[in-house]
Amino acid sequence: MPQTQPDPQGSVADPAANEPPNAEPRHLSGQRPGHRPAREGKLWPQLRLGGQRYLAPLARPLRGPFRLANTSLKAGLDLLLPAHCLACAQPTQVPSGLCAACFGSMAFIRPPLCDGCGTPLLVSLDSQALCPACEEPLAVSALARTRAVGLYQGALAELIKAYKHGDRLDLVPRLAQWMQAAGQELLHQKTDERQPPLIVPIPLHWRRHLKRRYNQSGLLAQALARSSRLPLCQDALLRQHFIASQKGQSADERFANLYEAFRTRPKRRGLLQDRRIILIDDVRTTGATLQSAGETLIQSGARQVDALVIALVPAPKASYLASDPQEDSLQG
Ligand SMILES: [Zn+2]
Ligand SMILES: [Zn+2]
Repeated sequence: MPQTQPDPQGSVADPAANEPPNAEPRHLSGQRPGHRPAREGKLWPQLRLGGQRYLAPLARPLRGPFRLANTSLKAGLDLLLPAHCLACAQPTQVPSGLCAACFGSMAFIRPPLCDGCGTPLLVSLDSQALCPACEEPLAVSALARTRAVGLYQGALAELIKAYKHGDRLDLVPRLAQWMQAAGQELLHQKTDERQPPLIVPIPLHWRRHLKRRYNQSGLLAQALARSSRLPLCQDALLRQHFIASQKGQSADERFANLYEAFRTRPKRRGLLQDRRIILIDDVRTTGATLQSAGETLIQSGARQVDALVIALVPAPKASYLASDPQEDSLQG
């Protein structure tokens, strides 16, 4: 394993090879995320041990009442603040859920789907079927497989907009939970891979990151790494150019904009070597961003790049696509 340094940006990667399946992901330094290294010298550990020894017995009798007070507070808050739909804020029965109308507008993707680009198919004879676009002999893709929660429409599109542009960070757990379900075969692939796949988010340009204050793909990648217990590297990729906005641009214009848009951080290249990477992004519109990032990772030594996103922008209607994605929606 290459020697790496802890990074101020909080990147994590590479757990030990013999990690038990239920172990927490480790930081690059080899420590678990919650681990606080003891300070240099002996004073700090002694004080800490002393504190635990003398304070823990005093705190023990307070645990029961504290838990009771905590549970009562939650119950009280539930009564005062009833559950609301995540998308439209109408009252619902389920906390952190969707109302019936919003749920009905979600076009969840489920099999049959194209094993390459993840587009829902109308019919499929085997689990590894490809759509005509992916089967095209001249089709070249840096991404082996893409999986998405659903199509970019209805409540899912509203949730993504609220998350990206409305500071709705409360949506991260639910979006990551859906991505975890949609990306099962990428996250928990049964193979003889020597190293677990590495989760890498699509980065923002530093100017956009500064303005938005968070990288929406980075937060999702962090939640997915935690729930799937896979290593994460937040800063393997860097954006080389600032692109103002791509709204309304054609696929060709977007691909031209994003040509060589990324580069890999030299000190992270060791982590990528001969490894499967799972790229995390919010929406795949034309696929230009993911393709560009995938090419960069392959050129830097990655063996395979898969992508996991919240939503796919529906392609123009084609005869092989599921005719009404609403009918194919999953419960969840
Ligand atoms: Zn709703
Ligand atoms: Zn396809």
